[in-house]
Amino acid sequence: MNRRSFMWSAMLFPLASNIMDTNAMNTLLNSGEKSVRMPVLFVGHGSPMYAIEENEFVNAWRKLGTTLPRPRAILCISAHWETNGTFVTAMDKPQTIHDFGGFPKELFAVQYPAPGSPELAIETKQSVTSVTIGLDEKWGLDHGAWSVIRNIYPKADIPVIEMSLNYNNSPQAHYDLAKELSSLRDKGVLIIGSGNIVHNLRLVAWDKMNEPEYGFDWAMHANDKIKQHILNNNHKDLINYSLLGREVQMAVPTPEHYLPLLYTLALKGANEPVTFFNDKAVMGSLSMTSVKIG
Ligand code: ZN
Repeated sequence: MNRRSFMWSAMLFPLASNIMDTNAMNTLLNSGEKSVRMPVLFVGHGSPMYAIEENEFVNAWRKLGTTLPRPRAILCISAHWETNGTFVTAMDKPQTIHDFGGFPKELFAVQYPAPGSPELAIETKQSVTSVTIGLDEKWGLDHGAWSVIRNIYPKADIPVIEMSLNYNNSPQAHYDLAKELSSLRDKGVLIIGSGNIVHNLRLVAWDKMNEPEYGFDWAMHANDKIKQHILNNNHKDLINYSLLGREVQMAVPTPEHYLPLLYTLALKGANEPVTFFNDKAVMGSLSMTSVKIG
């Protein structure tokens, strides 16, 4: 596909659900040359306040928007959507969900009006054959998705769908499911896992809230250990993270913020480069460490 036709495709696809049926869409998607294989991201999202604050993490998200190949659509696996079974959002206009409490009203006023993509929801469902993916019409974009994506693509002109985390799945089952999403990367889809590698809200250092960076020793050690396994392609140990010792157990007291990392890693090709960004701890017991593959 040459650059001009790629640009036309990018402009047409968000509108296409009204005028094309799914088969026609798939034919178009599969026709011609493949577009560039999109990178995959794991983004540490941190505090919901980062959606509206200025800081170095937000600046790094903005930079992604200018350096990544422009995606046709985004598929986000968010820590903040756990369900019985796996679902993808399939509505035309996903609502902005303010799924938190105790924050200033400015944060509740934020809207991220990116379109959805019913056609990508169907493509995602079709690309996963080991389990049935449900099409969801009720959810929308939770802050795991919009607090980050609104900074990467502030114009809200790229369609976004979310995939939920099935709370019945083992880490291995999440990893295996993610592998089935690989073909979407060749179809201009940017897949983003959104969580935090170290995320223990019960152990937050409230007395260090005003320090821009602060991590407990155990949190830094756990983060370093996980990074080293990522660099060594040691996915088996990362899947079995509960066996990685006391510090990692403290870093991952519940699975939902860690599991999106497994989705990202499962999509790594054998020789693809891995880079880290926003590789810092905050509030003692959170790390913002983020991963770009490809
Ligand atoms: Zn979160």
